Amino acid sequence: MLPLLPTTIAGSLPKPSWLAEPEKLWAPWKLEGEALAEGKRDAVRLVLALQEKAGIDIVSDGEQTRRHFVNGYMEKLEGVVGPVARRKPVHSDDARFLRAATMRAIKFTLPGPMTMVDTLFDEHYGSREKLAFAFAEILNQEARELAALGVDVVQFDEPAFNVYFDEVRDWGIAALERARAGVTCKTAVHICYGYGIEANIVWKKSLGNEWRQYEQTFPLLAKSSIDQVSLECANSRVPIDLIALLEGKDVLVGAIDVASRRVETPEDVAKVIREALKHVPRDRLYPCTNCGMVPLPREVAAGKLAALGAGAALVRAELVSGS
Ligand code: ZN
Repeated sequence: MLPLLPTTIAGSLPKPSWLAEPEKLWAPWKLEGEALAEGKRDAVRLVLALQEKAGIDIVSDGEQTRRHFVNGYMEKLEGVVGPVARRKPVHSDDARFLRAATMRAIKFTLPGPMTMVDTLFDEHYGSREKLAFAFAEILNQEARELAALGVDVVQFDEPAFNVYFDEVRDWGIAALERARAGVTCKTAVHICYGYGIEANIVWKKSLGNEWRQYEQTFPLLAKSSIDQVSLECANSRVPIDLIALLEGKDVLVGAIDVASRRVETPEDVAKVIREALKHVPRDRLYPCTNCGMVPLPREVAAGKLAALGAGAALVRAELVSGS
């Protein structure tokens, strides 16, 4: 059973320096063959221990087994000058290992269909919508397998939802729902303003004083079949009351800023959770990170995870004591 205010992470965690060069988004592997396979498993064991110690309730592999959240998936597919195809499951072995390595609830992240399209140049389909639905079919097979292997939450990462509002409305949500159809575990979508890297920092500066992008997408998601929405909140210009638009959904509130190396205090985290509780029922609120933490130094990420767990525990205690 999950506690009140279950904590979870949005996606990636930094990799050990013996596996990949630190503080890089798309670092090449430092190992090969069987040594690489074993190194990935050891890295997963390390991030599990880190999350468990920090009091994270729904843990993940921190994407230790892939180089990038989209390309790590797409490099296992065939196509795109012809039809896209998935010859065999991409993540089944990783999910099986993760399930066996922890007693906690587990989350597995996949790229969302629109974000996959956005990273590709397509010569075969000639339509972003058609290609998105082709990807959605593939992701759906993958997500069903992950649920069958005991994964508790499959999360689709759709940062592109913050950019292409008309397409989100016209076919983006429909493609996402196609990807989650018939999946027997909980499904989540993660929509963020990106990592703390230069390109994202420049983009954010162009967005003005209030980031109201979520205002367009949340009402559509509230009507969709997706169970959970993971969003960026801490230290961002997102007006927190927008989360009230996600009526009926579990809300994964980003309470950890991934674009800063300053480690939050538990009280910083607690403040974000208390604000969010004004707009979301307590049994639907999941304290989370804003986004993936792969570009951060490992000790910074560890400190931030510990703050997330401790901050949620603070508010949990307040709710239980009725203060
Ligand atoms: Zn993100």
